Order: sequence, then C-alpha cells, then structure tokens
Amino acid sequence: MDKSLAIKQEIVFYAKLLDAKGLVNPLEGNISVFDRETGGLYITPSGTRKSLLTADQIAVVKDGVQIEGTRKRSSEYLLHEAALRVRPECNAVVHTHAPYLTAFAYCNKPIQLRCSTTFGLLFEDVPCLPYGQPATKAIANGIEDAMKDHDLVLLANHGCVCAGIDLEKAVAFLEAGEEVMKIYFIAKSIGEVQDIPQEDWEKMCDTHVGSKRNRYKNVDEVMKCRPQ
Ligand code: 13P
Ligand code: ZN
Repeated sequence: MDKSLAIKQEIVFYAKLLDAKGLVNPLEGNISVFDRETGGLYITPSGTRKSLLTADQIAVVKDGVQIEGTRKRSSEYLLHEAALRVRPECNAVVHTHAPYLTAFAYCNKPIQLRCSTTFGLLFEDVPCLPYGQPATKAIANGIEDAMKDHDLVLLANHGCVCAGIDLEKAVAFLEAGEEVMKIYFIAKSIGEVQDIPQEDWEKMCDTHVGSKRNRYKNVDEVMKCRPQ
C-alpha cells in the first residue's frame, strides 16, 4: 500500500480508538503523524467526530500549507508542530481533553504521583504548561522545556498532549496516563493512597528496562532505523 494512505488509515484507526474509549469529545482532540521523509504533517481535520472519520479527510500540512485532505486541518496543528520539533525522535502527537488528566489541567496542577508503578515507569511526573489560547502559538508556550524530557504534558485549563516514537506509542502513553489518573481518583474514595517508599521508587526508575530513565537510552539506534 502507498505510504501516505497507510499513515492516513493508521490515524483513522487510532482516532476511532480514542473516540471509543471516551478520550476525545465529538468536536475536539486531534492526532498527527509526521513523515520526516517528506516533511508532511498528517493530522485529523478540525471539529470532526472521530468515529465518522475517513482517510480522505486526513489533512496533510507542509510548510504551514494544507496540501491534502477534504476537510480543514486541525486548529491545533501548531501545537503538534511544536511538540515534534522538541522531540526529533518522535513521529506522532496526540492532543485530547481526556477527562481524568484534564481535571488536573483545570487546576493548573502538575501530576507528581508516587503511589503507582505505572506512573513511575512511564512518566515520573507530568508537568503543566501555563494557559495559552487554543489554536494559537500561545498554547505551546513553554513546551520546549516541558516536552524535552516528558512524553505527556498538561495544558492548563485545557487538556493534554502526548508524543511518541510512533502513533501506537503516543496513544498508548495517553491511555495509560488516563487510566492511572482514573484509578487514582477511585483509590482516593477508598482510603488513603500510599506512596512507594522513595528508595524503592528510585530503584525501580533506575533499573527497570522500560522506565522513562531507560527507554530512550537507545534513541540513537531508533533514529538510525528511521528513513532519512
Ligand atoms: P480541532 O480543530 O482539531 O477540532 O481542535 C479542537 C481542540 O482540541 C482545540 O484545542
Ligand atoms: Zn484541545
């Protein structure tokens, strides 16, 4: 299959998955894949219910101009471009208003849980960018600092943004982050949430092969495998 169509179909698949899991509302949320070979940013169209999305509607933006797609590109393409600039090893970005993560964003609070092995291994912490108006460059203010060593970042009063080596990973990290926060809210209604002892936390983050501290260590290898 033609590479461009394959990327569009992949975006449609994951957009529908996010919709089915309640991680995007019918009017908002967007996902993108950057083809570093052609410089084309493939992105969902604006304001479109993801369960009805079709491959021909996926926009392709190059040098700021939409060159493909039957619908207008997402209003947040600048946010996606900013995230992809900060993380050259990443090819995909997801922006949603996933409810449990966004609840923290509404409080302008970074997330610093110490009660969850999943959270420790995947994120360690999730920073929160200051408020920036949607669909403008301001939404990405501070993203350079926050995203250079975080895959998942909150956008104050708005939602979250997640980058991944590929779209499967970007979506998976967002799903996992949302699940942890959902469990956290349930746990708080049961009793006092218990932290992992600091020493054990550090040991896990240092030694687990999939931890945030370790998973990008072979990033040079990842870059070598990628078409230039
Ligand atoms: P779209 O333009 O992609 O529908 O953006 C909606 C949104 O999430 C605004 O931040
Ligand atoms: Zn949004």
